[in-house]
Amino acid sequence: MSTAHLTIDLDALADNWRALDARTKSETAAVVKANGYGLGAGRVAAQLAQAGARKFFVAVAEEGAAVRKAVGPGPMIGVFSGHMEGDAGILRANALTPMINSVDQMLRHVERLPGHRFGIQLDTGMNRLGLEPDDWAQLRDIALGQNPVLIMSHLACSDQPGYEMNEKQLRLFKEMTAGIEVPRSLAATGGILLGPEYHFDLCRPGVGLYGGEPFDEAKAVVTLELPVIQVREVAKGETVGYSNTWTAPRPSRIATVAAGYADGLHRALAGGIDLYAGKTACPVVGRVSMDLITVDITDLDHEPASMQMLNRLQTVDDLAEAAGTIGYEILTSLGQRYLRSFVSRSEAAERAVESIRDKLRRVRPGLIPESAAE
Ligand SMILES: *Cc1c(COP(=O)(O)O)cnc(C)c1O
Repeated sequence: MSTAHLTIDLDALADNWRALDARTKSETAAVVKANGYGLGAGRVAAQLAQAGARKFFVAVAEEGAAVRKAVGPGPMIGVFSGHMEGDAGILRANALTPMINSVDQMLRHVERLPGHRFGIQLDTGMNRLGLEPDDWAQLRDIALGQNPVLIMSHLACSDQPGYEMNEKQLRLFKEMTAGIEVPRSLAATGGILLGPEYHFDLCRPGVGLYGGEPFDEAKAVVTLELPVIQVREVAKGETVGYSNTWTAPRPSRIATVAAGYADGLHRALAGGIDLYAGKTACPVVGRVSMDLITVDITDLDHEPASMQMLNRLQTVDDLAEAAGTIGYEILTSLGQRYLRSFVSRSEAAERAVESIRDKLRRVRPGLIPESAAE
């Protein structure tokens, strides 16, 4: 097979949601923006709904439509960008809940979608989205009169427990929402780990669900398997790849695998990253090119058919560190060329049961009716 294969472990995803949920007394939502952090919003949302999530968040309204299809009519789907010009139709058709970010959005919402559910996003210092304290002071009574279902804000530095910015934002969020009965939400993955005073009524983890830091107990969710196209012998002193950045220090065996920076494996990755043949790490050598990566398999006792770039031993955060970025960006860059499979124990078990049924039907016709699967 010539296509690289991305496997998404839906059980690990659900386990990560449950593990984060167990850390709080509040409700736990799931953030599935950017196509479920690059993994596939529909499958991810459906799995987490099955695990018990009843609230989802996306970045923009269009993403909410795909999530609504996946989770059905019940769960809340919040939209961080709020009610933008032209959104009324899609918000109504998919029963999405915009998080109102400005006075203009509030006016647009009550004019275009009177009575439609909404939340409010407050800016407590990140200066990215939400109503600033002055706007909120003006709008507060009017907005509360329209019965918002949630008041939220977002932390700028929650992956840095020592930063005083966290306490500053916490204090301001409490001040801005004092005496209000509406459910409140402040914490994403990092905020959950900061402790219970950050949890309020609802937590909104994203990256931790997908196996990324700062939730370092997260189970690995993605495995990326790259087929080996060719293996060659390289003499001591020969170079490999563009710009001759690697020179063989000894007679070497070099495998070329089928993926590159066009698949989200950044060109900056080259130093310090391995490809795995089973549990054996083999170093990437030379430049990452658009569709190909070269790897030194001299110390391997066989020629592998494929090698793993992402697994339990090398996570999205390991790749991020090598590329000078964060796990979020590695996840959301994962390429569209990959063949994607979603696996879960329950599905594997169902398939096993079905195959036993098939065998029984063949051996003992009539013992198990054809409709037994339903
Ligand atoms: C992305 C995002 C989240 C989830 O953040 P993670 O760090 O991935 O857990 C929560 N809330 C808002 C407003 C976001 O933009």
